[in-house]
Amino acid sequence: DDAMIVFDGVSKSYNGAVALHETALAVRRGEFLSLLGPSGSGKSTILNIIAGAIAPSSGRIFLNGADVSTVPPRERQLGMVFQNYALLPHLNVYDNIAFPLRIRGASNAEIKQKVGDALERVSLVGYEKRKPREMSGGQQQRVGIARCIVYSPSVILMDEPLGALDKKLRDQLQGEIKKLHRDLGTTLVYVTHDQEEALNLSDRVCLMNGGRIAQLGTPDELYFEP
Ligand code: ADP
Ligand code: ADP
Repeated sequence: DDAMIVFDGVSKSYNGAVALHETALAVRRGEFLSLLGPSGSGKSTILNIIAGAIAPSSGRIFLNGADVSTVPPRERQLGMVFQNYALLPHLNVYDNIAFPLRIRGASNAEIKQKVGDALERVSLVGYEKRKPREMSGGQQQRVGIARCIVYSPSVILMDEPLGALDKKLRDQLQGEIKKLHRDLGTTLVYVTHDQEEALNLSDRVCLMNGGRIAQLGTPDELYFEP
């Protein structure tokens, strides 16, 4: 089976207000899928349901063939990248990236090797001792990406990762994220409201509107109102 994430009749309501109507969705193994749509269309709801951060009101979610309700969060092998980076301000770059390995009980030797590899992938070798506040937004998000990939998650979730950056940096990091996905081959779900970004990056785009999937297809297959 080449489906990595499956939504089977998944919905979400908040006090009776529907954020996500009953939805079926299959994200293929290794694919780069963007969730594209205006604010409030349900993108974050889908991402947070995959992440296990919010429980669906109905339906079932399968990750790598397993019903997530039977898999403890730690064993779900998910990596997340946030719009606001969500770095720990009192920790330096090395310790921020090492954090997910430490909570998994990795040895110091393994941590050193994996943090080194992650730093190389985001071109931040030499920045180990910096604190997040001593770095630019683009550099901080590279740290956020390194922390996400450091334990080789089987699914990467990115929530508007370039939303806080200016146009030049957005273009640059887009290229870096695309290359990273190509190199790692990891299934990646990417939330954005930027149409150009979604079309540039993705194998397929899931276009959201009003808590429903309006269209799902390759960038070539999508239709946009002129
Ligand atoms: P974005 O538009 O960037 O996806 P949101 O503003 O929708 O972000 O959501 C930011 C946070 O506020 C999320 O944790 C979300 O769950 C929460 N949130 C969004 N809308 C509401 C709401 N109407 N009532 C309570 N919390 C909300
Ligand atoms: P998007 O990510 O596309 O901006 P969201 O998934 O954050 O959309 O939100 C979908 C809908 O659900 C919006 O109407 C939002 O206000 C609502 N919503 C999101 N989180 C909450 C929450 N914690 N409480 C109440 N309503 C929420």
